[in-house]
Amino acid sequence: MLDYHVHSQHSVDAEGDVRDHCRQAVKQGLLDLGFSDHLDFDPRDAGYGFLSLDRYLDDVARCREEYAGRLHVRCGLEVGELHRYWPQVSRVLQKSAGRLDFVIGSVHWYGGTLLGGDRYRALTPRARYAPYFAEVLALVDHGGFQILGHLDLVSRYPIPGSPPVPEEHQEEIRAILGAMLRHGIVPEINVSGIRHGICSFLPPRPVLEWYRELGGNIVALGSDAHGPASVGAMIPQAVRLARDLGFGYLARFERLELSPLPLT
Ligand SMILES: [Zn+2]
Ligand SMILES: [Zn+2]
Repeated sequence: MLDYHVHSQHSVDAEGDVRDHCRQAVKQGLLDLGFSDHLDFDPRDAGYGFLSLDRYLDDVARCREEYAGRLHVRCGLEVGELHRYWPQVSRVLQKSAGRLDFVIGSVHWYGGTLLGGDRYRALTPRARYAPYFAEVLALVDHGGFQILGHLDLVSRYPIPGSPPVPEEHQEEIRAILGAMLRHGIVPEINVSGIRHGICSFLPPRPVLEWYRELGGNIVALGSDAHGPASVGAMIPQAVRLARDLGFGYLARFERLELSPLPLT
């Protein structure tokens, strides 16, 4: 039971202090709790300039000590469009050297459009999806992070009556999965779509099957909680899916190093 995608009040769109999240993680029986507060450099993003890095790192470090022996508290970041802001991101990574356990690379913005926003919703399917997958491929090809956040996030915003996204974009998605394997970047099973009752796991099951076919054997798990109540929620279902698909390991990270946990 691991949860490597959790936002606290250090993210602009989340609530609850780090300690409340830890308390809930212990209640849920988690082994590892990975905080992944937002780091955004796109000036149009609501989270731009919001994160106070030292306060965040200190808060998580304090709870790591407090919960030692009961819960592994990991410190991560979810970085938006890391490949477009690498000079700024690498400065943050240098500043946090030895204090960060993992980085999630995510695409929330592409072509000046926020995924799920008004402008996005006005786009045709082709204009929505193809540029999204191109942006994700550019991110993965850049590297510099450990977990790819919510691959196929576009499935969370389906167009009624159009075919499911993964099947329509299999070629692009397979290219992304191949690049992930080459760069040692693991996918996550992000349960936010299920929790909100909007769609399936992100990425959806067929994408995880293609990843397995290509030789992928390690997967990360993430609730994408934006408050303590959702910490660890639906993670047992994600573990069941990983097991059904024959994954051998769950991803754990310490100081940016992967330490896979066998999935028995
Ligand atoms: Zn995200
Ligand atoms: Zn997130």
